[in-house]
Amino acid sequence: MRIVFAGGEANPYIKSGGLADVLGSLPKALAEKGHESIVVIPKYQDIKYPDTLEYVTNYDIFVGWRKCYCGVFKTIYDGVTYYFIDNEDYFGRPGLYGYDDDNERFAFYDFAVLELLSHLDIKPDILSLHDWQAAMIAPIYKERYAYYEYYQGIKITFTIHNIAFQGKCDPSLLSDLYGLDNYLYYNGNTRNDGCLNMMKAAIFYSDIITTVSPTYAEEILTEQYGQGLQSILQMRRHDLYGILNGIDYKRIDPETDPEVPYHFNAKNFKTNKPKNKAKLQEECGLPVKPNVPLIGIVTRLTSQKGLDLILNRFEELMTRDVQVVILGAGDQQYEDALKGIAAYHNQKVSLNLKYDFGLSCRIYAGCDMFLMPSLFEPCGLSQMMSLRYGTIPIVRETGGLRDSVEPYNEYENTGTGFSFFNYNAHEMMKIIDYALTIYHDYPDKWQQLVERAMNAQLDWDKSADAYLKVFNSLLY
Ligand code: ADP
Repeated sequence: MRIVFAGGEANPYIKSGGLADVLGSLPKALAEKGHESIVVIPKYQDIKYPDTLEYVTNYDIFVGWRKCYCGVFKTIYDGVTYYFIDNEDYFGRPGLYGYDDDNERFAFYDFAVLELLSHLDIKPDILSLHDWQAAMIAPIYKERYAYYEYYQGIKITFTIHNIAFQGKCDPSLLSDLYGLDNYLYYNGNTRNDGCLNMMKAAIFYSDIITTVSPTYAEEILTEQYGQGLQSILQMRRHDLYGILNGIDYKRIDPETDPEVPYHFNAKNFKTNKPKNKAKLQEECGLPVKPNVPLIGIVTRLTSQKGLDLILNRFEELMTRDVQVVILGAGDQQYEDALKGIAAYHNQKVSLNLKYDFGLSCRIYAGCDMFLMPSLFEPCGLSQMMSLRYGTIPIVRETGGLRDSVEPYNEYENTGTGFSFFNYNAHEMMKIIDYALTIYHDYPDKWQQLVERAMNAQLDWDKSADAYLKVFNSLLY
């Protein structure tokens, strides 16, 4: 089967969030199972390893009335073919998203992907679209390209990574950018809440919709989590699948990670993990205390990630014998609040307001616990990485957190982490206290917990099979 993946970012070339991890891992997992995986992303100015890219071709495309140059570059990595869409005006700038003309930039990208298929004669069986950046490919394909013989028969899947980012814009853009009839707005196919809504359009037009965990697939059908798209999702609920993301166990491995000072695995973590802890405490300017539980937080600083709960109970947490290391960047209000706390508790809190991949790995490797009390979490990779590095996650039971962290059961001695259900700061504090009790009073049980966490099977193998099952259901 040939699958072409379209989305805004993919590891190892460019990343702003979890989407890059998925587009860096799922295609590879499918390629390893004998399928042809192709990923198409924009050629941003910040693309890594530019010297490895080879120029392939160029063609002109129309974005509405705009005639645009489209260059194509290519590379092959880990058995996956990557194509990069080049246009200096649109992508020759720092960063990925957040520009005023994002709608136009990604309308260009959407057409570029569809044109690429025929220009390079790589007609796929499945065109797998990801998030708003690629969402409009679904209506453009069904309303325009599917009429051409070459394009007929391609099946479209759309994957929702985070329903909070829908791509809402002015209805006039439907014809102005995409060359689609305004009728497709007024009849509701692309409209939601008075806007042209890219995600709504993709949900309407795709053959199948997937999202990144089974629990999130249920949650987004409700008003609480659906962010206004629950009705169209309910309409398409029989074509909606929740497939938990995996992580790449080869790249994310405490035994080989070059960012981790002392390598370890599920057998020797008792000796080497504490060394990483000491080194991390040193690096973060915290007193080196082996027996004080070290709690890690690596996150975008937004309300989604449960920052309100964390801030609400921080002073109470500081009355416990713990250390906290925070790595994150994001909303000013949270950065400011954390700065105040960290300055006051500088012997217990290390605050790192930046994006730092290396430090994130050392936090996963060196901490005892990882706190992630998200308000909502489509899948979440951080908790899986912390499990892989034997750092016990403390999470809220939502979305992929619920599907990937098995709650600790002290009677049966099972589970891989700690979790609480309601979005409630007291519940969170209670479960943190429970984790601290197990850590201090039952060190043997804690070690077994770490071992189970490290042995949790959250790699891509199972998830890739689940995707294949869904893709196959469209083809046969
Ligand atoms: P989301 O995609 O919603 O931000 P995920 O948990 O799915 O959340 O993925 C976040 C990824 O980004 C993880 O791999 C995490 O380690 C990484 N990350 C988040 N913030 C930072 C940061 N400040 N520095 C380094 N890595 C970060």
